[in-house]
Amino acid sequence: MSDSEDLQAAILDELGALRRDIHANPEASFGEFRTANIVATRLRAAGIETHEGIGRTGVVGVLRGRLPDSGMRIALRADMDALRMNEETGLGYASRRMGVFHGCGHDGHTTMLIGAAERLARTRNFAGAVNFVFQPAEEQIAGAQAMIDDGLFERFPCSEIYAVHNMPRFRAGQIAIKPGVVLAAGDQFEIAIKGVGGHGAAPHLAQDALVALGQLIVGAQAIVSRNVDPADMAVLSFGSVAGGQASNVLPELATASGTIRTYREETRILVKRRLREMCAGIAVATNTQIDLEFPIGCPATVNHPEQAEFAGNVADEVVSPGNVLREFDSMMNSEDFAVMLQHKPGAYMLLGQDGMPCHHPQFDFNDRILPVGISLFVRLVEKRLAAADRQGALA
Ligand SMILES: [Zn+2]
Ligand SMILES: [Zn+2]
Repeated sequence: MSDSEDLQAAILDELGALRRDIHANPEASFGEFRTANIVATRLRAAGIETHEGIGRTGVVGVLRGRLPDSGMRIALRADMDALRMNEETGLGYASRRMGVFHGCGHDGHTTMLIGAAERLARTRNFAGAVNFVFQPAEEQIAGAQAMIDDGLFERFPCSEIYAVHNMPRFRAGQIAIKPGVVLAAGDQFEIAIKGVGGHGAAPHLAQDALVALGQLIVGAQAIVSRNVDPADMAVLSFGSVAGGQASNVLPELATASGTIRTYREETRILVKRRLREMCAGIAVATNTQIDLEFPIGCPATVNHPEQAEFAGNVADEVVSPGNVLREFDSMMNSEDFAVMLQHKPGAYMLLGQDGMPCHHPQFDFNDRILPVGISLFVRLVEKRLAAADRQGALA
C-alpha cells in the first residue's frame, strides 16, 4: 500500500465511523448540541483554538500555520444540521431519532472538515491562519446569518471563505466548481386574504376571499411570463392554499404560501415587488384585504471568479483535471452559504457522490468521498496560504 492509499484507508475507517455516528444521532437546526460537542472536542484534542456557541450552536476553530505569517486568513465552512424528516434507508446506522434525518449529507460535510482540521493541525504546512467554521441551521437558511450576527467575521477575520456540498447527480470522485451563480435565491412567501364571509347563495353580501385567491394564483404566473426578461429565469410556485370548510359557506379568510427562485438579485427584487403590487391590485379589485410576507429568504449562491478559479486548480490536483467540472447548469435549490459569500469572496464546491438525491428518504452520504473532500480542503489551504515569498503573487 502506498502512503496515500494507507491514508485513504485510515480516513475511511476512522472518519467513516465518526460520520456514521453523527448520522445515527442527527440533530435538527439549532439543536446541534451533541454534534457541536463532538466537533469542539476533536478540534481541542488536535490542539486547535476552539470557540463554541457562535450563532447559538456554531463552533469556530482557529489554526495558525508554522510558516512565516503571511497575514492571510481563510475560512472553511461546514454545515452540521439534519432535516426534519424520516429516514427510510434501512441502514444499520440509520437515524435513532424519529423525524430527524441527515438527508442532506451535512454529517459528511462536518466529518470532512474535522478530518481536514486534524490533518492540517498535524502538519501546519502553511503561512497565515485557517478558521474552521461549523455552522448550525443551514436547512432553515438561518445559521449563516446567526453566526455573522454573532460577530463571525469580526471575531475571526478572514479574507476568503470556502465550503463544499455533496452532489448525488455527479459521480463519486468528481468535483464541480464554477464562477458565478451556482444555486438560486430562494424566497418563501405567505399570503393571507381577509374578506367578508357569508352564504354561498348570497355572494353579493360577502367579499369572497377565495375568488381573490384564485385571481392571485393565476395572475402571479404572469410575473414570470410578462415581467421577467425572457433571457433570464424565475420560478414562482404556490405550494399550499387553504380556505373554507363547507361547500355553501364563503370563508372570511384564505391563505396561501409558495416559493420564488431566481438567479439574479435584480430579478429577485423585481418578482417580489410585482407580487406585492399584484396583491395590492387584486385587493382593490376584489374589495378584500391581502397581506403578503416573505418570512424566509436567501440570496443566490454566487462564486467569486478568482476564488472559483483557484479552487478549480486545486481540484485538478486532487482528482485529476478530467474529473473537475467547470461548466454545469446552475441549480434551483438554495443554500445559506450564499450569505457568507456576500460578505467575503470565496467559492462553493460540489463533490460528486452518486446515489439518491439530497432530501430523499433513502439518501445517504457516500463515505468513499470523505478523502476527496478532506484533500480538497487541505490542499486548498496549503496552496492558498503558501509561504510568504509566493504570497506576493496572489496579492
Ligand atoms: Zn438540504
Ligand atoms: Zn445541504
